[in-house]
Amino acid sequence: MDYQRLWQAVLGEMEVDVSPASFRTWFSGTGIISQEDGRVVVAVPNPYTKERLERLYGAEIRESLRKAGVTVRSIEYRVSAKGIPSAALEATLSTKPGSAAGRAVAPGQTQAKLVSAPHPTLNPSFTFESFVVGDSNDVAYASAQAVSRYPGQKYGCLFLYGGVGLGKTHLMQAIGNEILRRDPSKSVRYVTSEQFTNEFTDSLKSKSTKRFASLYRNLDVLIVDDIQFLGNKEKTQEEFFHTFNTLQQLGKQVVLSSDRPPKAIPNLEDRLSSRFSGGMQADIQRPDLETRVAIIGHKATERGMELSHELVEFLARHFQQNIREVEGALTQLSVVCEHHNTDPSVDVMKRLLGASTSPRKRSLTPRIVLEKTSALFELPVSEIIGPKRDKDIVRPRQIAMYLMHEDIGLSYPKVGLQMGGRDHSTVMHSVRKIERSLELDHELQADLARLREQINA
Ligand code: ADP
Ligand code: MG
Repeated sequence: MDYQRLWQAVLGEMEVDVSPASFRTWFSGTGIISQEDGRVVVAVPNPYTKERLERLYGAEIRESLRKAGVTVRSIEYRVSAKGIPSAALEATLSTKPGSAAGRAVAPGQTQAKLVSAPHPTLNPSFTFESFVVGDSNDVAYASAQAVSRYPGQKYGCLFLYGGVGLGKTHLMQAIGNEILRRDPSKSVRYVTSEQFTNEFTDSLKSKSTKRFASLYRNLDVLIVDDIQFLGNKEKTQEEFFHTFNTLQQLGKQVVLSSDRPPKAIPNLEDRLSSRFSGGMQADIQRPDLETRVAIIGHKATERGMELSHELVEFLARHFQQNIREVEGALTQLSVVCEHHNTDPSVDVMKRLLGASTSPRKRSLTPRIVLEKTSALFELPVSEIIGPKRDKDIVRPRQIAMYLMHEDIGLSYPKVGLQMGGRDHSTVMHSVRKIERSLELDHELQADLARLREQINA
């Protein structure tokens, strides 16, 4: 079988298991590059897809390949433009009229969605379509749409602000995705202010500040997330000031976000905060119950989960502050239900919430964390607390540190002691690394859910 036919067979299997929206999002632009002695190399259009396929769909893809007659020894997902172009994927699907993906989207709509080019800094699943609009975010949503229709024209700078987990990053990424969908020739860059700072500092060290400046000053659209972290960083602020001015003078688009309005960011130079305040500002508030119900319903559907109205409402009432937390809960729920082969219910959810909110009461100790981590990852405790830097060991080690800090409440130095005498800054770095990865990494979310379940069993 040639690679293309082999991959079509895999896609055919996957299409049955995966929701149509996910199927389009995650399998467009994929394909097999090579297959030798059971070593399969799969092309993926961008790092997000790579992560997603590896972690979430890896087992199924492996199984589908097996069914197609390949004895799989390993699968490597490689970012490459060699996959099946979106249009071809579309063609395959549309020849199967009864298929799940064929049914789901109206003809005009699909074309638009699939043309979007893979982009290294944008997550294709953050789109305007996947964003639920309510009273709490309608102004931000409308401004974001205006910016993506008329980049650089309507508002030179859009400043979005609001609390954690309320959709700022989602909207900013949607702007980037939408601008590229409309005009793939635009150069768009999304960075967090921490990345901007690190890149700038690196360019100082390697004496390549010119290259840095020209990279940023030649963009059509610059999106900088969590700009509040520029506070206190004087040199970076100065560089950012010049970048910002140049882009504004050239009529380019800048989009910024922060957890608070520009004037309230501590240690941000006045000239910057007044520039930021000069553009369009829109805040995102906590969503009301109705909007939360809609968002949770949407997220469940995206994951192919069927939740009763009762459960959706229960979740909406329980999680009032932060949508990201609801997503974590949904992941836990699906893992646990799959594991026990039960349907998601309010009861199961209540038990899970009980487990994750009251671990401290259960006299959890560092020893237990280490033992359970060791059991789950099939690694001896001595390796977990030992010095080896293998990837398979580092991740469980970081997870153990994260749990000691989060669920037992140990300080970084105390965690360091439990972990074979590690430095507190190493511990801090590990904990933050896990926190950050948790946002996108569903496999990690699932591992943590399993671990916490066993800890609390
Ligand atoms: P922030 O950047 O404000 O901290 P994010 O954009 O990272 O928040 O949002 C956290 C999670 O919640 C994301 O997965 C995002 O998709 C989801 N989310 C937040 N608001 C909405 C919304 N209105 N509709 C759909 N998903 C949302
Ligand atoms: Mg964010």
